[in-house]
Amino acid sequence: MTENKKQIAILGSTGSIGTQALEVLSENDALFEVYALTANNNVDLLIEQSRKYQPEMVAIGNETHYQKLKSALSDLPIKVFAGDDSIAQVAEMEPIDIVLTAMVGYSGLRPTISAIKAGKKIALANKETLVVAGELICELAAQNNASIIPVDSEHSAIFQCLAGEGNNPIEKVILTASGGPFRTKSMHELEYVTSTQALKHPNWDMGAKVTIDSASLMNKGFEIIEAKWLFGVSSDQIEVVVHPQSIIHSMVQFVDGSIKAQLGMPDMKLPIQYAFTYPERLKTNFPRFDFNLCSQFTFEKPDLERFRNLEYAYYALDKGGNMPCILNAANEIVVAEFLKDKIGFLQMSDIIEDVLAKGDFIAKPTYHDYVMTDSMVRILTKEIIEKAHELTKKGHIGN
Ligand code: MN
Repeated sequence: MTENKKQIAILGSTGSIGTQALEVLSENDALFEVYALTANNNVDLLIEQSRKYQPEMVAIGNETHYQKLKSALSDLPIKVFAGDDSIAQVAEMEPIDIVLTAMVGYSGLRPTISAIKAGKKIALANKETLVVAGELICELAAQNNASIIPVDSEHSAIFQCLAGEGNNPIEKVILTASGGPFRTKSMHELEYVTSTQALKHPNWDMGAKVTIDSASLMNKGFEIIEAKWLFGVSSDQIEVVVHPQSIIHSMVQFVDGSIKAQLGMPDMKLPIQYAFTYPERLKTNFPRFDFNLCSQFTFEKPDLERFRNLEYAYYALDKGGNMPCILNAANEIVVAEFLKDKIGFLQMSDIIEDVLAKGDFIAKPTYHDYVMTDSMVRILTKEIIEKAHELTKKGHIGN
């Protein structure tokens, strides 16, 4: 460990954001050092990354991989841990300056809370953390003086637009959405799209979960909720506009009517690097956007009839309490089932709608309530899917 270099922990180092973050860090190795890496399941890549970046410690969530990880790194002075507890503990280690939270879904909540309690600067890529428990996270961050820098490209864009604005009031934030691979598909076509088609995102290269969320616009729904907590805006101050070129990453409109936008090529390395170097900017060799090669920017209103998830996200945001946590848990289950081609694309929204109506609402949830909500809603969602399958079967027998 080198004293004057910023010490970085990457939670979820083997995922799409994690691997790109490591590239960013190795481009700037005079300033940053990888202190800790964690992964959930991909032990082979974690071994490879550990040998290359030589962190002080590594942790793997799935304990069955412990022996393999331990013996593969036995010739190196790297501390090896396993289990979800160890990931939360790694996140609070004293020498760490910045924790990048890049794991998928609800699993990010607990380690993010430990990093915040330890007063770390958080480079937040795991948006579900703010979706599930935004109020709690913001309270804890304020209490522990932990700053949260967004890595999500839209929120990074807004964050960049706000730099230098002091306390100038925001009139609204405008989140741009690519519209995903199914933007132009009809309702009828959407009934038959497969997970393979959904995984082909036109502009962004991302992990499977966020790519499906992107196709269903749930990703944008989560980003609305994320924006509320990051920027203190209410739901009527958050607008979504479809911008298929994905060059404008998002905008802020101030009270005088002026709109600031942040533009660039769709490349997650830029927001990742900005989160590490903020408030400074470092030179990069990333491809530059060329106005001469892009003849037009277009904008559309999102279609809430074909993409109902956006509406459910606004509903959950307005309802507050544990409703966004209910939304997230239901979504994690339906996405997993859709990826296995067990349910259809439009069925995902049907089931989510059902779960939002049936889940137990808690207006002022504690951390324990969130944990309970998450596990209860997963069970409830699976039951609803099960019932839907039985009905289909019966229907077939009836025929
Ligand atoms: Mn995003």
